[in-house]
Amino acid sequence: MHQLIAAPFLDGHLLLHPGARSGARIPATHYEQLHAADGAQPLPDWAVDLAADAWGLDVAGAPTKDTVLIREPSAYGYCRASWEINLGCNFGCKHCYLGERPFSGLTWENKVKLLDIMREAGVIWLQITGGEPTMDPHFQNAYRYAWLAGMMLTISTNGSLLFRPDLLQLFRECPPYRLVVSMYGASEESFDALTQRRGAWKAFRRGMDAARAAGLPLRINIVVTEDNASEADEMAALAREWGVEHHAYTNMTPTIYGGGEPLLAQSADHLRQRKPFAGCNAGHTFFHADPHAKISICKVGRDDQIDLMAEGIEGLRRLGTFADRLMLRTGGCEGCALSGTCRVCRPLAKHYQEAKAPLHSYCQHGDTEKEKVTP
Ligand code: SF4
Ligand code: SF4
Repeated sequence: MHQLIAAPFLDGHLLLHPGARSGARIPATHYEQLHAADGAQPLPDWAVDLAADAWGLDVAGAPTKDTVLIREPSAYGYCRASWEINLGCNFGCKHCYLGERPFSGLTWENKVKLLDIMREAGVIWLQITGGEPTMDPHFQNAYRYAWLAGMMLTISTNGSLLFRPDLLQLFRECPPYRLVVSMYGASEESFDALTQRRGAWKAFRRGMDAARAAGLPLRINIVVTEDNASEADEMAALAREWGVEHHAYTNMTPTIYGGGEPLLAQSADHLRQRKPFAGCNAGHTFFHADPHAKISICKVGRDDQIDLMAEGIEGLRRLGTFADRLMLRTGGCEGCALSGTCRVCRPLAKHYQEAKAPLHSYCQHGDTEKEKVTP
């Protein structure tokens, strides 16, 4: 299996090591040298030195074809994607932005078709999410297929199944780029209350113990809501004690259908002002796939979707136009004089408006209530 990936990336080229967080930019001439190489020849000296310096690898003398996976240039220009492999989940979180979570997804043949399209589209970084993605019947095969195609994989999980030996074995053989685990409390009482599942805390702890023991590249998303607000510091302390990078998620958002249910879980004391929205490349350099390969510009802006199973890769060509249209400040934001410093993108503002969310939770026109939201 490959130890290195050489890939075109936007307007340059990268050398990557699966499972490593850092990558190295390489000149186009180096990429072309690897691309044109007779696979039986050993790696060029510059690649041997770079692999040793960047990742401590010893690949001197190894045949190029056994060591480096060469990603082909893509005419589509996407480098990132996210994929909800299945919305089914063993938790039932009060703040879940998915709303409903039907347990369904593509057949194995269509999962392969989707991953082949992603590879051809140029995707290097793929986030596989859910629901709880590891529950999908094809998760392990899909993960391995994507990894062998030269993708750097992030898995977003609730951690409850990370104790499973088959999963740990998979991650040992095909190291993930990152495992992002959500933390919903620092005690059994609050964790099980927010997830609405008895035993959720014990399952999370068991999964985290196994994942830490296996040395997996973890990051914790600390979800702070009304149920566990009093444990916000304890959750951060636990992540620190474990030596795991962590990040607090404090602002609940409406469901992807514009439902307001998750906002009921918001901790008023933890509502934070976001930084002004400075634009993004949704739909241009990344896209999102739902469990049935309906493609949207991102997880939030799902108004316009492309059925990738029906249209094939050519469907991606329309995504950029969708993105430009969805970002226009239309609807409730039309003509807003504050849009230049707005804190949310237009698709997210639309969800808040549909959910009839209090203005101060997302919009500057509600800032007369600012005292309530200043960190
Ligand atoms: S674990 Fe994630 S997907 Fe599952 S219910 Fe909770 S927020 Fe939703
Ligand atoms: S400040 Fe409010 S009304 Fe103005 S663009 Fe942002 S969300 Fe829309």
